[in-house]
Amino acid sequence: MNDPVFFTRLVRSLPTTVPFVGPETLARRSGRAFKVRLGANESAFGVSPKAQEAMRETIKRVSWYNDPDNYEIRAAVAAFHGMPFENVGIGSGIDDLLGLVVRIFMEQGETAVTSLGAYPTFNYHVTGFGGSLHFVPYRDDRNDLEALADAAAETGARLVYLSNPDNPAGTWHVSRDLEAFVDRLPEGCILILDEAYVEFATDEAVLPLDPVDPRVIRMRTFSKVHGMAGARIGYAIAAAEIVNAFEKVRHHFGVNRIAQAGALASLGDPDFVARVVEAVAEGRREYEALGRELGLPTLPSGTNFVSFDAGDADRAEWMVGTLLERGAFVRKPGAPPLDRCFRVTVGTAPEREAFAEILREVVEIEES
Ligand SMILES: *Cc1c(COP(=O)(O)O)cnc(C)c1O
Repeated sequence: MNDPVFFTRLVRSLPTTVPFVGPETLARRSGRAFKVRLGANESAFGVSPKAQEAMRETIKRVSWYNDPDNYEIRAAVAAFHGMPFENVGIGSGIDDLLGLVVRIFMEQGETAVTSLGAYPTFNYHVTGFGGSLHFVPYRDDRNDLEALADAAAETGARLVYLSNPDNPAGTWHVSRDLEAFVDRLPEGCILILDEAYVEFATDEAVLPLDPVDPRVIRMRTFSKVHGMAGARIGYAIAAAEIVNAFEKVRHHFGVNRIAQAGALASLGDPDFVARVVEAVAEGRREYEALGRELGLPTLPSGTNFVSFDAGDADRAEWMVGTLLERGAFVRKPGAPPLDRCFRVTVGTAPEREAFAEILREVVEIEES
């Protein structure tokens, strides 16, 4: 540890890691561009034409600061879900909102519980604000709700993080089981329910929104089904006291004007969203067929990606390395038991074809 002493003790103690290595970074390192970009669960189906138009118009006004209250999009999200304005908080993506939640709830040294190998941004915020993490392994390729609740009780956790449907597995729990899980959490412990993929899931995976449960903070995003990952906007649905507490610590101009306009227009284009959901379902079925063809079983998915099961971690690692070399950007989970899988975002039909070709080559190389 040779960081200069003028950094805080906390910063000096943190490893110099980032939660994600971007495809741009990988391409710069290898000196080769990727042929297909299917590693970050970005939407392959673009942005609503209405949102594009709204964002194009807004460029003319980008010399003005954005509305720090996010008033219009906040009201529109509330109306969309049929809930009070005061229960909606806007942020520059779920990744931003996760940081706000950690900051308003966790004292230094307190514990948060999450699944081992789950979406890493939460962990990054917890350690960055001086909290510590307790990890619970996945069971049967799903978040282990019982073990998560037990761990929360044993560690006196302030926060439990869960994504449903899950990234990186793609699997989900039905709302009845989520309700029982919330009831099992110890007093004072709050569930962060990350619903980045909820639009792609079956209805039974969706916990009812009404009434807002003070023990649960829901998070949703315009990054996935709305295809606006690069614009950075998402929202939390939570008790009014929690949303009000965000006001004390959030970056008030953090959601940019173009994102505000695009999200508002995309929310008003449900036909576009329905078409994306349909296209993704078709792509998932195609990946499942590809998996059957190549002897790589797929996990059930309620998301816009599919996890292919390579059987063991070494083989999955080799396959991802070989896919990357051959121009397919994909990622794999880092922790057991899911580290035997690799995760592929549903692309457009031509992207899926290009990916299938590369994956068939990889399987042939392995067999030769
Ligand atoms: C993609 C993803 C996010 C990112 O959301 P942003 O709104 O883009 O910050 C959050 N959670 C999970 C589980 C994701 O897969």
